Amino acid sequence: MTDRTCILGCTRRGRHYAACADYSRDDGCQGCVPTEAREGALICHRCYGRLRRTIEQAPEIIAHLRELTHTVSAKRYDSIPGGRDRSTIAPVSAEKLDAIRDIMTTVCLGDLSAYTDSTKARHQVTAGVAAILSAYDDIVNDLDAVTQWWAAVMAHRLPHDEQFWTISRAAARWPIQDRRRYANAPCPECDTKTVTVTPPSHPDSPTWYACTECDWERNDRDNDGQWGRIFHPLDFTVEESQDELELTDAGRRVGLSQPTIRRWLRDGQLTARAEEIERDTGKTYTRRFVRIADVIDVDRTVRRNRGKRTRERT
Ligand SMILES: [Zn+2]
Ligand SMILES: [Zn+2]
Ligand SMILES: [Zn+2]
Repeated sequence: MTDRTCILGCTRRGRHYAACADYSRDDGCQGCVPTEAREGALICHRCYGRLRRTIEQAPEIIAHLRELTHTVSAKRYDSIPGGRDRSTIAPVSAEKLDAIRDIMTTVCLGDLSAYTDSTKARHQVTAGVAAILSAYDDIVNDLDAVTQWWAAVMAHRLPHDEQFWTISRAAARWPIQDRRRYANAPCPECDTKTVTVTPPSHPDSPTWYACTECDWERNDRDNDGQWGRIFHPLDFTVEESQDELELTDAGRRVGLSQPTIRRWLRDGQLTARAEEIERDTGKTYTRRFVRIADVIDVDRTVRRNRGKRTRERT
């Protein structure tokens, strides 16, 4: 336990001081009690995880940007004075080259040579990031360091350099594959089944567990590795949760029983898409499909309401 709170000003969702007059409205205060800092850090668990995971993504983002720029040429035609007619050459987006340069600066490496391909770029940045990660616990416990790293990595815009490409700005602009999966077990904080598992994106990285419903977040090295024993990823990614599956498959994939899913359909909490299938005999039968994300949503609502009832009773 520590009495330090997150210096980035995080507050706990749904937790209010007695004096808070604003909490009952939907558009009112979402939480005013500050989030406790992580042991040995000036920032909370969620900020600790977000900052580190974004730094860990740097090699992947640089490799991705290099792929996008390298197919044509990394040469900056737009900077050639009185240069060629830009409409006749394939434009290499100067924006992407700027992003590469800025991220390379952030991870303390020089700019990428125009001859470095995406595989080499990934190796080079992976090594740079490893050095940062080995000092990460010192960074997050130092006021100046954590403030500067947060700005260069996480900020959307830097006030003194609005064009600067922070890692998260570049990740939002040129998204890389979302490798998160939902976990099989509910969140220890809010009890909804909305914990995501992010596999390591760097050889020195842990696996991350983050709840999308509340702010709970830990990794598989925290608390003597207990979270890795509790959470196992379900076999679909967050992206794939948009897929439709037949009822039997959907239940199995999300870890819910058939009767539960059928009850939600009967109650109208969940809707299924019906498809008439014609047999060779000419008779038809109906197959029903649900979206995994919808099933997760209903499960979340049900658990949340159950939680509310328990609180009201006590
Ligand atoms: Zn409040
Ligand atoms: Zn925080
Ligand atoms: Zn939660």
